[in-house]
Amino acid sequence: QVTSPYQLLVPENVKKLLRPRAKFSHKGTFGHALLAGGSYGKMGAITMSSQAALRAGVGLLTVQVPQVGYNILQTAVPEAMVLTDEQADYLTQFPEDLSRYQCIGIGPGLGQAEASGLALENLFRQKLPPLVLDADALNLVASNRQLRQHLPPGSILTPHPKEFERLTGPATSDDHRLQLLQSFCAEHDCYVVLKGAHTCIGTPTGDFYFNTTGNPGMATGGTGDVLTGILTGLRAQGYSALEACQLGVYLHGLAGDLAAEALGEASLVASDVYRYLGAALKKLS
Ligand code: AMP
Ligand code: MG
Repeated sequence: QVTSPYQLLVPENVKKLLRPRAKFSHKGTFGHALLAGGSYGKMGAITMSSQAALRAGVGLLTVQVPQVGYNILQTAVPEAMVLTDEQADYLTQFPEDLSRYQCIGIGPGLGQAEASGLALENLFRQKLPPLVLDADALNLVASNRQLRQHLPPGSILTPHPKEFERLTGPATSDDHRLQLLQSFCAEHDCYVVLKGAHTCIGTPTGDFYFNTTGNPGMATGGTGDVLTGILTGLRAQGYSALEACQLGVYLHGLAGDLAAEALGEASLVASDVYRYLGAALKKLS
């Protein structure tokens, strides 16, 4: 049985969460985010997450990629600093000093190499800043009980329905899916952004929030990676996990709506979503 009523993410409420940038601020004011991911043939995902984190307003961004990603990241995202793994094609480690980051986003393009799973196990044993876990980070968690049991509390997970069912087991109906969402969030003390046409945010306290923005043009590869970047960028700026989920999910859909208005749904690609993120922020504020 689903035990809580749900709320809708509507502009009147989401707008109140936005913090204006103070005149005497500097890049340190807006946090330093770390994004980790990418593998041979999947560097686009982490590149688009990086662009999105920057467009979400983060002060500084570092990206950890395998060596194959070095030139790609430095060229495609000149604003980001880049750290490389000792491995060429996939990640086998995370940076040693994590205390400088206010949020770590992991998963876009990561792949599911065994060594990447071990790196996650080591990471989860440390004292960590807030995490956003997506894509193959979720698939690694789903296939490894050790990782599932040690999910850092307060983390944000952003599965699409298939990734979600790998974590929770199959849902037999929409109502059952919400029950699974509610029990997973409570058991692991985490926030789950269950993505879809009406993305649903589940919280540790059992509350649900359904999004009202977005369109079928966003059913195209990479839009989820853009959301990961937005959430990581917001969380690093000091928004709470719930605020980041509400603001990020709403703005991601609104940026998609503005992009579709200008370009049409069929032609919309994931990079359009971060390109219209500024317009979405402007419209909401
Ligand atoms: P992913 O499957 O990880 O690439 O994530 C896809 C993203 O696009 C999620 O944020 C979804 O909410 C969004 N999306 C996919 N299909 C639709 C749709 N039909 N309407 C609105 N948003 C969508
Ligand atoms: Mg995805």
